[in-house]
Amino acid sequence: MRRYTAEICLKKIEEIRNQVLNNNRHILSGGKSIFSRTLIEANMDKISDWVSLNGVFYSYQAIIARGAKITIMLYNQILAAIPKEWKRTLQQPYQHSMELEEVPLLGAMPKNQLKAMLIKRKLIKKPSGVMKWETYLGESPTETFWNRAFQAARKVTKEPKLQIMQYKIIHHIIPTKQYLFLRKTAESPNCMDCKQIETVQHMLYDCEKTKELWLALTKLFNQKENSKIECNITSCIIGSTTKSEKRRKFNFIATHLKYHIYMAKFNDGHPSLNRFFLQFKRQLQIHSLNQQSEVQLQEFEETWKQWLKIE
Ligand SMILES: [Zn+2]
Repeated sequence: MRRYTAEICLKKIEEIRNQVLNNNRHILSGGKSIFSRTLIEANMDKISDWVSLNGVFYSYQAIIARGAKITIMLYNQILAAIPKEWKRTLQQPYQHSMELEEVPLLGAMPKNQLKAMLIKRKLIKKPSGVMKWETYLGESPTETFWNRAFQAARKVTKEPKLQIMQYKIIHHIIPTKQYLFLRKTAESPNCMDCKQIETVQHMLYDCEKTKELWLALTKLFNQKENSKIECNITSCIIGSTTKSEKRRKFNFIATHLKYHIYMAKFNDGHPSLNRFFLQFKRQLQIHSLNQQSEVQLQEFEETWKQWLKIE
């Protein structure tokens, strides 16, 4: 019974979120429907583009930032024209949210199942970074995969700058040349090395020079550690946690290599494996100084002995 009520409510919210703003006979300003080509061009002509998952309408600044270059007058007009009844429904107490903590009526449904259902019904979206990676990969890894990738970003190292970089990578928000060019802070969107457009995946993996580094690292790692780590964007760039000690070790090295590439590209220099290993060895030496006890130090040196003496 409770499930049933919640289903009806979700259905209503879904219907409202799917309403198109243009030429809608329910969305009236001065008795007339609204029409703005800009909304279509910016792909912002649905109510769901205008309202958060909690039913709060975005600010004028947020709408502009999402690409709809409209006047504040039109913004106010649209907001006033959306029926009050709809606004109330969108803010119903047992609505969906990304965290899904506030879903009393749907609480009985397993969280993963509920989230999958809401995504399927387009009531909530996956994080846009995740969707960008999925578009690039041409497939949708499971939710478990993404949960593990986010976990790995936190667990791979205790260094905040590396953790933050890894979160940015998964959210697909690394300031590449393309990103900076679109925001008018770079003169060209192209990679310094090969003149192709520098996207996140190009910068960190696809650029020929960068890919050479990944191929060399995975080959060396597999030789030294007697393992079978694949050289691909999922394994090297997005990363994942598993219980495997070798995979964790690879993630640790890979995160440092990503940082090296990121800094080198950012400084208009060129990433290099020799310079990377010099830096990485120095990092390991610093880590060994930070070990709390003789036992920990021995364990650390045992784990990394192959990499501490690399030339
Ligand atoms: Zn390139």
